[in-house]
Amino acid sequence: MHSPAPDFSKIPSVDRVLNFAATQKLIEQHGRSLVTTVARNLLAEVRRRARKQAFNEAAISEPSLSAELAVRLAVQTQSNLRRVFNLSGTTLHTNLGRALLPEEAVQAVVTAMLWPVALEFDLQTGNRGDRDSIVEGLLCQLTGAEAATVVNNNAAAVFLLLNTLALKKEVLVSRGELIEIGGAFRLPDIMLRAGARLVEVGTTNRTHLKDFSGAVSPRTGMLMKVHWSNYAITGFTAMVPEKKLSALAHAHNLPCVVDLGSGSLVDLTRYGLSKEPTPDEAIADGADLVTFSGDKLLGGPQAGILVGRKDLIQRIKKNPLKRALRVGKITLAALEAVLKIYLDPDRLATRLTTLRLLTRQQSDIQAQASRLQPHLAAALQGIATVAIQSMKSQIGSGSLPVDRLASAGFVIRSVAPARRNGKALKKIEAAFRMLPIPVIGFIRDNAFQLDLRCLHNEEEFVRQLAELRFEP
Ligand SMILES: *Cc1c(COP(=O)(O)O)cnc(C)c1O
Repeated sequence: MHSPAPDFSKIPSVDRVLNFAATQKLIEQHGRSLVTTVARNLLAEVRRRARKQAFNEAAISEPSLSAELAVRLAVQTQSNLRRVFNLSGTTLHTNLGRALLPEEAVQAVVTAMLWPVALEFDLQTGNRGDRDSIVEGLLCQLTGAEAATVVNNNAAAVFLLLNTLALKKEVLVSRGELIEIGGAFRLPDIMLRAGARLVEVGTTNRTHLKDFSGAVSPRTGMLMKVHWSNYAITGFTAMVPEKKLSALAHAHNLPCVVDLGSGSLVDLTRYGLSKEPTPDEAIADGADLVTFSGDKLLGGPQAGILVGRKDLIQRIKKNPLKRALRVGKITLAALEAVLKIYLDPDRLATRLTTLRLLTRQQSDIQAQASRLQPHLAAALQGIATVAIQSMKSQIGSGSLPVDRLASAGFVIRSVAPARRNGKALKKIEAAFRMLPIPVIGFIRDNAFQLDLRCLHNEEEFVRQLAELRFEP
């Protein structure tokens, strides 16, 4: 037995498909060229399929081909940088773009994109200006530093400072601070590439001032302190505080630099969060240079910020690599707008999106969960059960690693028999990920879970639940 040879003449030509009534609208929307390309690819695939398996006449009908063409064009033309709902339980999620920026930053970016701006142009004198001057004053005001500069991200900031101040020299770092962040940023690797020689001092859990002083030599270029970021060392521990480390560095005429990573610009305990070291404290404790990210706790655009002594910042700015790592006008526009919000700390928790999300009260999140629960339960009927549960959100991006924020959300359990549970959960997770605005949750304790801390557009969330599709 074999199926009859497919009748290829029944498959319409590209021209026929382009003349379908429904195709006219697609051409108006997407242009003839793109529609032709997509139609040609679609028909090639139909022919390939026809050769392999039984010929399906329904699949080559006008309605079916038109519908498939529309779907393919929609997929082709949607942005690859898809907007998603971050219900992952991690507020500053590196893979989901970290900080969400406030409206003020959005407006500043729009202006910088649509109009010429005085990026490197001194309007007082008409001479060439310096792009760092757009944010330098604000950064100095907020951190107590003498000078500041901005590069592409904090990894670049650390790289640039090592390459400028410690090329072919030794950098002393505690063994307890040789961190890796998200795989791509490992301090020893960055050091090597920057041309500096790492000298590990002390032990993993305990490093004393005498470990540093014993390692200082004529080859030493700087003493460095790195914030732990994404882990904690607890128990029998000792690390050298900035004040002591900088005093030792200065006694040897060396700079003391601190990589803060997240570097909140304000004391977070004021907003009910845990203590996180701030650049102004490090500067006050004698650090000569401090680096931190723009898009972690600061709540701004991706950037690496260096603040500190004027002579050192000057040297960094003269390094040719600064040019390779500099930021564009869009970043500077957003960063300036965000820094301005810090000038009014009393309203920071409502105006700075990141801080608003981090300080959202559990009761508020719980109330939201109660409002949404019936909608979600209805959409998942026969597939899964939906319970509201207290949760603990993470801040993310290596900020306050042990701190958890009381939150709430949904625990979605498959009704499938236990032996198929794992697969069923994966399908539920995928169904949420395939929504028009993908919903990103997490699987834990045999359930698919959604932490609602970062859900601020409820209506949109509910509206698209009708489009959940589960694979059989
Ligand atoms: C996050 C982090 C970095 C890297 O910063 P990016 O802005 O992601 O490049 C470097 N050092 C520390 C301590 C960090 O926490």
